[in-house]
Amino acid sequence: MEDKNIAFPGDIIAIEEEYLPGKNTEEYGGNIYATVMGKVYKDDKNLVVSIIAENKKIKPSVGSIVYGKVIKVINKEAIIQISAVSLNNNIYPVNIESRLRLPVQNKNAYSHIITLGDMIRGRITGVKPLYLTIFSPNLGVLKTRCLVCRRELILRDDTLYCNNCQRSETRKIASDYGNINILGGNNEGRRES
Ligand SMILES: [Zn+2]
Repeated sequence: MEDKNIAFPGDIIAIEEEYLPGKNTEEYGGNIYATVMGKVYKDDKNLVVSIIAENKKIKPSVGSIVYGKVIKVINKEAIIQISAVSLNNNIYPVNIESRLRLPVQNKNAYSHIITLGDMIRGRITGVKPLYLTIFSPNLGVLKTRCLVCRRELILRDDTLYCNNCQRSETRKIASDYGNINILGGNNEGRRES
C-alpha cells in the first residue's frame, strides 16, 4: 500500500513510542521529525518511519515547481526557504532561498496571502536573485496555521477554518490544500482551460 503522505522538513511524522527514526528523520522530545521533504514511509514490520527522497541534486530554474516555507517578510516581499524541487513526478530536496513579491499596498498587510511558517508551492519566475510566484490556481499555500492559536487550518466549504477558535482566515491557497498532490504543480498548462 502506498502512503501518499508528504512531509515537509520539521513535520512530526510519528511518535517515538510507535516507530524508530529511519532515513531522513530525527527524534527529539518523543517525536520523530522529517528532516527533508519527501514521502512518508512507515515500515510496519520493522516499525521504522522514514522519508523517501531522491538523492540527485536539482537546481531550480525558471518554470520549476518548488516547495518551501515562508521564513520572513520584508518590504512587500516574502523570503521562502525552498526545501524541494519537483521534476518528472519526483521531488528532490534542496536548501535555497527565493523571494516572492507580495501585491500589497501596506507592507504590514499581507496575512490574507501568506503568513510566516506557511508551506507553499511556487513556480520559479527568475534567477539571480531567485524569485517565485504563487499566483496561479495550483500554486500557493499548502499548510498554514491559525493566527490566534497556531493550530493547522482546515479547508471547510472552500474556506480556511480553525476548529479550535471557530473562525475563518484567508490565504492564497493552492487548489489541493488539505490533500496535497505532489504532482499538482506540474499540470498547470493542461488544467487551465
Ligand atoms: Zn485557532
